[in-house]
Amino acid sequence: MIRSTLLKLSESKSFARWVTSNNTTRRMSHRFVAGEALDEAIAAARECNDQRMLVSLDYLGENVSTTEDAQRARDAFLEVFDRIAAERLDANVSCKLTQLGLDVSVEFCEGQLLSIVERARSYSNFLRVDMEGSVYTARTIDVVKRVRSQNPAVGTVIQAYLYRSEQDVQDLLAYGCRIRLCKGAYKEPPEVAFPRKRDVDANFVKLMRMLLPSGFYHGIATHDPRMIAATIRCAAEKKVSKQDFEFQMLYGVRTDLQQQLVRDGFRVRIYIPYGQDWFPYFMRRLAERPANLAFFARNFFR
Ligand SMILES: Cc1cc2nc3c(=O)[nH]c(=O)nc-3n(C[C@H](O)[C@H](O)[C@H](O)COP(=O)(O)OP(=O)(O)OC[C@H]3O[C@@H](n4cnc5c(N)ncnc54)[C@H](O)[C@@H]3O)c2cc1C
Repeated sequence: MIRSTLLKLSESKSFARWVTSNNTTRRMSHRFVAGEALDEAIAAARECNDQRMLVSLDYLGENVSTTEDAQRARDAFLEVFDRIAAERLDANVSCKLTQLGLDVSVEFCEGQLLSIVERARSYSNFLRVDMEGSVYTARTIDVVKRVRSQNPAVGTVIQAYLYRSEQDVQDLLAYGCRIRLCKGAYKEPPEVAFPRKRDVDANFVKLMRMLLPSGFYHGIATHDPRMIAATIRCAAEKKVSKQDFEFQMLYGVRTDLQQQLVRDGFRVRIYIPYGQDWFPYFMRRLAERPANLAFFARNFFR
């Protein structure tokens, strides 16, 4: 129930305004968000690289409703690729299609995505399209497939909680698409997603076992030690080298585990979000772990 309430609240514009204008909550957001400015994200990325971790920079934003806002987001992404190259960081970039205008028009959004992917490719870099709520899944996959047929420097994300994901994995692998596998972070009805955690976990393992031996380079995005152990076992069993896939984790979550995996010789990529529009992202992080809410409430009232 706490998870549902937090995910519902993550869509509230008035609550977002209150939280993002409050100095205490802004400070607290630093637990999961590198900062509001690109410079802060670059500094966090440098720190990760120094600790032998790869990075994916995410300029936060979603569900924009005007072409102007979507174009501003596109320009910000172009700038991120320029900065990564100028700073010689080992980092790629993640974005959301509703940030690039998917709610405005699919064609417009696709054009925007293509221009960012072209910039990524000009630096031999890569853009990952995050997966949002299930109303966007089919459109996201279609746009990524079309853009990928023109330029391969783009991949996307599959959520293990969706019933449709096994079919999507088969479909995307036929296109040679690089996939990030995660459990899924949105509020979904039982008609489209497994309601029970153990079924989500079982599907995660099933999909991971399809991805790992596929011959393409994928990201296994989880902090769950059982999912990580299953991945390591599968890689050993299928003789997939540690260089041929990566673990991905979120900035500020299970840093102990991140470092342990690096020490064990695995490739680990840290997803570093930044920007002013951090509220929905922050709320999804709270929803994932109710203990976070108690921690933030204690700090807020202190
Ligand atoms: C790199 C990356 C990219 C992602 N991209 C997407 C995406 O595009 N679309 C999407 O829907 N979801 C995305 N997610 C979120 C994902 O779907 C899950 O909601 C999230 O990762 C929690 O699932 P878990 O696999 O860690 O397992 P869980 O079973 O949720 O958690 C396992 C353990 O991890 C720790 N943990 C997990 N989350 C937190 C947290 N917020 N705070 C503190 N500890 C935590 C706890 O110790 C917990 O017991 C992404 C996650 C990662 C790591």
